[in-house]
Amino acid sequence: MLIQTTFQPAQLYEAVHELIRMAYPKHDLVRVETPSAQVKLNMQMDLQDQRVTFSGWIISKEKETARKETYFLDEIERDELHRHLNRLTRRFAYDLLVEHTGHSINSYGILTGMRPVKLVHRMLEQGMSPIQIREQLTSDFRMSPEKAELIMEVASNNYPFAVRGPQAYKTVGLYIGIPFCPSRCYYCSFPGAVYRAGDSLQSFLQALEREMEGISQVLNDTGRSVQSIYIGGGTPTVLSEAELDLLFSHLNRWFISPATLEITVEAGRPDTLTPSKLRLLKDAGANRICINPQTMNNETLVKIGRAHDREGVVRSVNWAREAGFRQINMDLIVGLPDEGRQEYQRTAEDILALAPENITVHTLAVKRGSPMAEQEGRESVGDRVKTVQEGLIMMETFFRANNYKPYYLYRQKYMQASMENIGYSLPGHFCLYNINMIEEKQTIIGIGGGAASKFVNPRDGELKSFYNPKNPAVYAESVDRLIAAKVDKLKAVH
Ligand code: SF4
Repeated sequence: MLIQTTFQPAQLYEAVHELIRMAYPKHDLVRVETPSAQVKLNMQMDLQDQRVTFSGWIISKEKETARKETYFLDEIERDELHRHLNRLTRRFAYDLLVEHTGHSINSYGILTGMRPVKLVHRMLEQGMSPIQIREQLTSDFRMSPEKAELIMEVASNNYPFAVRGPQAYKTVGLYIGIPFCPSRCYYCSFPGAVYRAGDSLQSFLQALEREMEGISQVLNDTGRSVQSIYIGGGTPTVLSEAELDLLFSHLNRWFISPATLEITVEAGRPDTLTPSKLRLLKDAGANRICINPQTMNNETLVKIGRAHDREGVVRSVNWAREAGFRQINMDLIVGLPDEGRQEYQRTAEDILALAPENITVHTLAVKRGSPMAEQEGRESVGDRVKTVQEGLIMMETFFRANNYKPYYLYRQKYMQASMENIGYSLPGHFCLYNINMIEEKQTIIGIGGGAASKFVNPRDGELKSFYNPKNPAVYAESVDRLIAAKVDKLKAVH
C-alpha cells in the first residue's frame, strides 16, 4: 500500500517520515503525485518574524482530517531555534497522525531516536526537577506516562556513572571488533564472516595488532587513558586460546592501566566456551563476560540457528563462575519465532536461577538482510506485537521483583511493538561501557572489523562517527588508511 506525502518546505520530510511510518507500518512512502495511493498526507510550515504556522491534512478512504497550529517564537534563543522548530514540526505531525488514525502511534511520542535517555540527562544538566521533566516528556514530547517514568528511572540510575566534563576528554572507551561467528543466527544481519574450525585468521589478527599499536600511540601522545574495554563482534570467543592470549598481551601492553576499570568479553555463543578459555580470559584481565542464550527454550534455539542448548548455557555460566567471573551479563530476546508467554516465563525463571549480575532484554528487531527478513518479511512480525509487549512486561516484572534495576536503554529501527532494549543490573554492577556508549559524551574508539568509533569534541560536544569495514578481508587491506583517519580525528578532538 502507498502513502503519498507532500511537504512545503521539502525538508519537513526529514523531521517526520519516521512518525508516518509508525502510523502506517505497512505502507510505502512516496513523494510524488500518485493517484493509486490509499492515503495522502500534506504538511506545510510558514515561518514569519517571530511566528510559525503549521497546517496539514490527511485523506484516506474512510475520512479526512485537517489541522492548523500557530506558535510564537519570541522567547526562543537563536541557537535553540532549529531544535525547537524540529520539535514543533514533529509534534504537529504526531497530533495530525493520531487524530486521523484514532490511536497512539508511538509510546515514545515524537521521539524516534535510539537514545531517549540522553534527553533526560540533558534536562537534568539544565537543572530541571523530576516534576518538570515528567511534564515536558508527556506534554511537549507526547510520551506515554509509563515510558516517561521508565526513561527517567534509567537516567537517574545511570547519571552518576556517565562520564562528563573534563573526565570525558581524558578517558576513552575502547571497542575491539572480532567479526566472526560460528554460524549466522536467523534474526541477524551479521556483521562479518562465518568462522569454521581451521580457518586462518592471520591477516585479520595482524591488521588488528597494527591498528591497536597505531591507536595506542596517539592516546599516549594526547594523554588519554582507557576507562573501559569491550571486546565484541561477532563472537570473539571463536578465537583460540593462543589467539586470545595474544590479544590480551597487546591490550595489556598498549591500553590497560590502573585507570581501566572494566574489561568485557562478549562470549555470545556458549558453544565457543571451555573452562580453560574462561580461565585464560579471567587471568588475562577480563572482569565482565557476556554469555548470551537469547532464549532458554531448546526448540527456539534450533529455529534461530544456534548450536548450543539450554544445558550448554547453564554449564558455561558455571564454568565462568569457577573461573572467577563476578560480573556476568546474559542477553535475551523477546519476539523470537513461535515464542509466547510460557516460553518467556521459562527463560526468565532459568536466567534468574543463574543469578547473573546483568540481564539485557532485547526486543526483536528484524534487520534488513537477515534470513528472517528475507523469509518472513519485516512486517510479518506485526502480528506478534501484543505477545511481545506482554513478554517484555512479564520479564520486567520478574527481574524488578528480584532486585534488578533498569540502567541503560536504547531503541532500534524495525523494533517490534514500539518498544526498547533494556539493560538490567543488580546494584553495584552497572556496565560503564554500555552507559557511556549510549550517553555519547566520551570518545569511543572502535578497533577491528565492523567497529564503530565516536569522536566527541570537548569544545562543543559535537560527535563524529567513523566505521571500520565489516568484512575481515576488506578491513585487513584498508587498516593503514583506517589508522591514519582515526589518528587525525583523535588529534582534532584533543
Ligand atoms: S552470534 Fe550475534 S553477531 Fe553472531 S550471528 Fe548470532 S546474533 Fe549475529
